[in-house]
Amino acid sequence: MNISVQHLNLPLRHPFTLGNGSSRTHTAISILSLEKNGITATGEAAMPPYLGENHETVDAFLAKLDLTYLQEDLSIGEIHAYVDSLHRGNSAIKAAIDIAFHDWFAKTQNKTLRQLVGTSAMDMPISTGTIGITPIPDINQKVNELLEAGFKKIKVKLGGPADREMIQSIRKYTDLPLTVDINQGWKDLETAKDMSFWLADQGVILLEQPFIKEDLESMGRLKALSPIPVFADESCQRLSDIECVQAYVDGINIKLMKCTGIYEAIQMVNTARRLGLQIMLGCMTETSCATYAALSIAPLFDMVDIDGPWILKEQPFKQPIIEAGKILIPTTTGLGIQ
Ligand code: MG
Repeated sequence: MNISVQHLNLPLRHPFTLGNGSSRTHTAISILSLEKNGITATGEAAMPPYLGENHETVDAFLAKLDLTYLQEDLSIGEIHAYVDSLHRGNSAIKAAIDIAFHDWFAKTQNKTLRQLVGTSAMDMPISTGTIGITPIPDINQKVNELLEAGFKKIKVKLGGPADREMIQSIRKYTDLPLTVDINQGWKDLETAKDMSFWLADQGVILLEQPFIKEDLESMGRLKALSPIPVFADESCQRLSDIECVQAYVDGINIKLMKCTGIYEAIQMVNTARRLGLQIMLGCMTETSCATYAALSIAPLFDMVDIDGPWILKEQPFKQPIIEAGKILIPTTTGLGIQ
């Protein structure tokens, strides 16, 4: 049993600006390699600044792992429980370990990851591609890049100084369905309500995380007024958060890097369905590795937003392929990264 890690600081295609005021040109990623019984597997931790993880916290977390215990014949549930018990937080490196073990289990059973988790490729939703907060003169280029990549739905980051102008500008170049993600950037309910009606008129079909993550009260008020469904992202990270947010939103955004990986993501899907919530599968700025891991469970979701590899300027793996707006699931065993 052996685990090693490679730390990367990958450049983004464009500086990525969000409604919470952050902007960055690179993103921190750790690629995990795992070897057990002669089979090697790969996982990924993608670390946006807001989750508080970095290459140092990844090294510190990995140092806690008891490889002698992990060498035992464990189920994926036992591995999840053990890894999650080591330290609180650290959800991205926990996800990297979860992804690598899923890759490993799939390879040992000579299955693709999708076959291992038991989803149907027939049910794959189309994925959105993302436009960050962008100066108006650059909108045309951003829209063209997404259309050329093959996206059939666009997610727009709002919460900047010119939300309406951005949407109006995008509408000059495409009539594709839009979703919007405010990343906690809106301040008052009245403006948010007006915006939700205006956005509905512009063909926007989903509104994500309008207010700061603690302000569930305003999310609930907007949900009651808005003609577009309101989703929680930053407000809902793990399984235990769902019950707290469920009364205030129409749906939640589930991401592997927030919820420690595929094992808990599937539990979140089941819980959200039981509570009548819509579910969206999201991503961080991540490579094909985490994207393929997410893709294996994507058929379980109403909406899919896993465009990480297209936000990166370069990455160590082969770029996924989009056909008819859907990202193709690899057919080689395990994760399918090359
Ligand atoms: Mg979001």
